Amino acid sequence: MTTPRKLHIKSYGCQMNVYDAQRMVDTLAPEGFVETDSADEADLVILNTCHIREKASEKVYSELGRLRVMKDDAARSGRQMNIAVAGCVAQAEGEEIIRRAPVVDVVVGPQSYHHLPQLLARAKSAGRALETEFPLDDKFGFLPAPTRQAIRARGISAFVTVQEGCDKFCTFCVVPYTRGAEVSRPVARIIDDVKRLVDNGVREISVIGQNVNAYHGEGPDGRPWPLGRLMHRIAEIPGVERLRYSTSHPRDVDDSLIEAHRDLPALMPFVHLPVQSGSDRILAAMNRKHTADDYRAVIDRFRDARQDIAFSSDFIVGFPGETEEDFSATLALVTQIGYAAAYSFKYSPRPGTPAADMQETVSPEVMDERLERLQILIDSQQSAFNLAAIGTTVDVLFERPARNEGQIVGRTAYLQPAHVMASPDIIGKVLPVRIESLERYSLLGRLASPAAIAQRAPMTSGA
Ligand code: SAM
Ligand code: SF4
Repeated sequence: MTTPRKLHIKSYGCQMNVYDAQRMVDTLAPEGFVETDSADEADLVILNTCHIREKASEKVYSELGRLRVMKDDAARSGRQMNIAVAGCVAQAEGEEIIRRAPVVDVVVGPQSYHHLPQLLARAKSAGRALETEFPLDDKFGFLPAPTRQAIRARGISAFVTVQEGCDKFCTFCVVPYTRGAEVSRPVARIIDDVKRLVDNGVREISVIGQNVNAYHGEGPDGRPWPLGRLMHRIAEIPGVERLRYSTSHPRDVDDSLIEAHRDLPALMPFVHLPVQSGSDRILAAMNRKHTADDYRAVIDRFRDARQDIAFSSDFIVGFPGETEEDFSATLALVTQIGYAAAYSFKYSPRPGTPAADMQETVSPEVMDERLERLQILIDSQQSAFNLAAIGTTVDVLFERPARNEGQIVGRTAYLQPAHVMASPDIIGKVLPVRIESLERYSLLGRLASPAAIAQRAPMTSGA
């Protein structure tokens, strides 16, 4: 038997990258690679990179500097270490990476990582291998299924990519260039993936895509199915306790998705719906193709369908030309909607995107100040949302032992971490929990008595 080779993957950025990293592990397992947590003992280190903002991209080069030292140390002790750069920086800066970091053996874009074994072989014979074209073959048709052990080790909640790429071309965003055109996987393949996961203990499925509600994969009837119909089909699979999807675009919210929220108890009432700005002028310059009122109307449709629904969002501050009035419109939108959580970013010009050529830049000081004001508002909404859980009984899907001895941690419908003292047998179960207190962002409570279960009250959204 050959000695297993050790593989270490460091992933940056979005949940699509987390999923891709797992599939890279699955791709390399038949080649004898096993995962390790420590980079310095690895035979292969993969940096699975993110290009969305400048800070994220630059991290790659500083990490490669550290890896160069490790690779030299390994060589001195007679061991060969290979280094691969995958993900969106690999796609956007392939040749540049090779030029700036000769330590790199393989560069592979996000659509080509199913070719990793061949690329490693090519690097061995030729010294280097680079693949950043969008290949004609669909990687999902080639990726080996995860082993039972891999699924079990990854826990009771799993991502399944159903859609990739984006055709929206928001003027600030690199995704259409790094991930390519929008494609949807066929329903039957997704169902096979979900069944395999559930058969091996997964209880929560999060279907993901760069623009997941643009999903239009081929259904068993040969016609394109929208995301809402896919959700109905997945919810029918025995063992799927919870269902989520991310990230959606306000323009692609259709009746099928709203109906899925109305009809499917397994579909969690928590929707990540990025809006970016509350100013119509900025939304137009961003090419979002919706107004702030369109967004408000979409939120109302969700709320009409399911009154306990809550929202999170993404915001960009300091987009070129953003005035104080535009920014006030963003604050007004946030105040009106009332979010359970939200992410906010300073605008970062990305090479090759239309916004990078826009002239009216906002100064770094103004950006900092606006970001701080927005984050204070969002934090206050998030705290109010979390505090509202105290004294209520909520369903928690238990995931794993917590760091504190004897505690088990799970998540509420709104992804709030919730801790209880209990035996590990509850892992994988959805149980009602009486929430007693809040510690930073974590809820603390106790498993509810049967009487409390009968009087369970739904949580309300907003702050
Ligand atoms: N597809 C999603 C959508 O349409 O909203 C978002 C995908 S993107 C990976 C995640 C978030 O990163 C965006 O919602 C946006 O807020 C932020 N982002 C993208 N490009 C950015 C840039 N150039 N500068 C700052 N933030 C950016
Ligand atoms: Fe980027 Fe999302 Fe816009 Fe697509 S819809 S270009 S992924 S921000």
